[in-house]
Amino acid sequence: VANGVDLEILDESKLPCIEPLARTYERFLWSPNSAISEPKQVINAMKTEFEARGGTLKLNFTVKLQRSASNFFIDGHPAQILVNAVGAQSDRLAKEVGLARNYAMVPFMGVTAP
Ligand SMILES: Cc1cc2nc3c(=O)[nH]c(=O)nc-3n(C[C@H](O)[C@H](O)[C@H](O)COP(=O)(O)OP(=O)(O)OC[C@H]3O[C@@H](n4cnc5c(N)ncnc54)[C@H](O)[C@@H]3O)c2cc1C
Repeated sequence: VANGVDLEILDESKLPCIEPLARTYERFLWSPNSAISEPKQVINAMKTEFEARGGTLKLNFTVKLQRSASNFFIDGHPAQILVNAVGAQSDRLAKEVGLARNYAMVPFMGVTAP
């Protein structure tokens, strides 16, 4: 595995020795030297590093975009590069500045009827 994590696909018969309460179907992934992370700590570490590099975070803030010939403006602040990461709203945000005119988010559930 590229990131150096030990990872094996083991047969179902080995599962009771590793985790007696777990159930699987035929096989399972076993990674003895990795763990579940605490998302809040990961986010806080990224925040600390971002701010240490001079970044500013603005929370609880609805982004409104404007655009001139050469720049985007976020709440009046110019930005030459904009990362649109507002999830299912990203097409609407892009349309505020005349982009993505031919795109629309089409939500659907990826499940089939029984
Ligand atoms: C019910 C449900 C169940 C799901 N289950 C799974 C699952 O089990 N496994 C899986 O892999 N994926 C699942 N997904 C999909 C997963 O949640 C998304 O693919 C993922 O969250 C997208 O991440 P994102 O960062 O692009 O957007 P989001 O996580 O949606 O983040 C976008 C953020 O931008 C904010 N925002 C929107 N507009 C603005 C604005 N104008 N200004 C400022 N902020 C704004 C939103 O409030 C939100 O916080 C599920 C989705 C749904 C709806």
